[in-house]
Amino acid sequence: QRNVTCAAGKDATAEGREQDLSKYRNIGIMAHIDAGKTTTSERILYYTGKSYKIGEVHEGTATMDWMVQEQERGITITSAATTCQWNGHRINVIDTPGHVDFTLEVERALRVLDGAVAVFDAVSGVEPQSETVWRQADKYNVPRVCFVNKMDRLGANFFRTRDMVISNLGAKPLVLQVPIGSEDAFKGMVDLVKMKALVWSGEELGAKFDEVDIPADLVDLANEYREKLIDAVVELDDAVLEAYFEGTMPDNDTIKRLIRKGTIDRAFVPMVCGTAFKNKGVQPLLDAVVDYLPSPLDIPDVDGVAVDDAEQALTRPASDDAPFSALAFKIATDPFVGTLTFCRIYSGKLEAGTYALNANKGKKERIGRLMMMHANNREDIKAAYAGDIVAIGGLKEVITGETLCDEKNPIILERMDFPDPVIKIA
Ligand code: GDP
Repeated sequence: QRNVTCAAGKDATAEGREQDLSKYRNIGIMAHIDAGKTTTSERILYYTGKSYKIGEVHEGTATMDWMVQEQERGITITSAATTCQWNGHRINVIDTPGHVDFTLEVERALRVLDGAVAVFDAVSGVEPQSETVWRQADKYNVPRVCFVNKMDRLGANFFRTRDMVISNLGAKPLVLQVPIGSEDAFKGMVDLVKMKALVWSGEELGAKFDEVDIPADLVDLANEYREKLIDAVVELDDAVLEAYFEGTMPDNDTIKRLIRKGTIDRAFVPMVCGTAFKNKGVQPLLDAVVDYLPSPLDIPDVDGVAVDDAEQALTRPASDDAPFSALAFKIATDPFVGTLTFCRIYSGKLEAGTYALNANKGKKERIGRLMMMHANNREDIKAAYAGDIVAIGGLKEVITGETLCDEKNPIILERMDFPDPVIKIA
């Protein structure tokens, strides 16, 4: 039983967890370089309302300048994880480096996220590098939603990209949207669950959409893909399948529930489209993240081993009541705070000012400062809970891949088998 004790946006203090764990989405955005990962991430932060609102600056103007600079360079480059809010959900966007040289870093990031948005360029479709990251995500069983970006570009083609997802990635796409127009005439998309057209007005950051009837020339295509969608989801539930054979169409909530199930079980990969640059499609993409990607409760308990016996398997459930366990996945340096150790908390609760055991080194470390990173500010918090992504300030000896845990309940979370780093000879 989890408590939702205070409104989103307040700090998680004495009253406990501020948001229900089922409303967490720990996601990464993965893409071939240039497909639009940075733009998509920035738009996500914009829409989730935390970006471009510079406030709560504690360290004076220098911080402000640094943050403005950071924004110019793009949040995905400098922040290992950013916490934002969408429709009552906490979305932690975990940076997934996309460059092939950072294979090791990509694997570390993939290890701690529960789902991902794979961004493709609608003109070039699936590129060799997208394949590399896709295979890595396969290795960690990461459920995905595909976002076919740049629908406004000359030569953009949603269905060709869909075909490449089949042929080059061997995945089973599930088309959730049919684009309305393309290139300069890209207007929006037909939502195949609602069977409504989402049509944009306004440009860039002012873009907003209206839900209208499906344009007459797209009704046949929309019906065709709606049918494929229904065929794919009814298969996932015997009762729904039986009712369907008897002539009962599942309602939209059931369809959504089954899309979510199929995505999490990796029966298929939902595909949506848009243009991040012109800002058309990012809000429905956020809806898809919330509707179809898993919460920490939807994924298996994290695996680990006993500290003194690598053969003894242990697990930790995503619960505040379980012993504390967390994995350090990124060490960053912040000009004002010093060393930040980014951790994914898998179980239990961590309070600032207490001690945790570094299970790999057998050493206790003091948790000096506990922070949540937002697009424009870092928020000091008193406690963090199962499912949270936090930055710990002041740790001395923790390196990435190490486990922090409750001293009385030690565990080493399964280490990744890192491949040898790729050494390039010029
Ligand atoms: P990343 O390398 O994947 O992070 O890609 P970026 O987000 O930096 O985008 C690469 C380039 O594509 C930039 O020049 C963007 O302005 C541009 N871009 C991103 N999204 C879109 C889009 O939806 N349409 C168009 N036409 N250009 C885009």
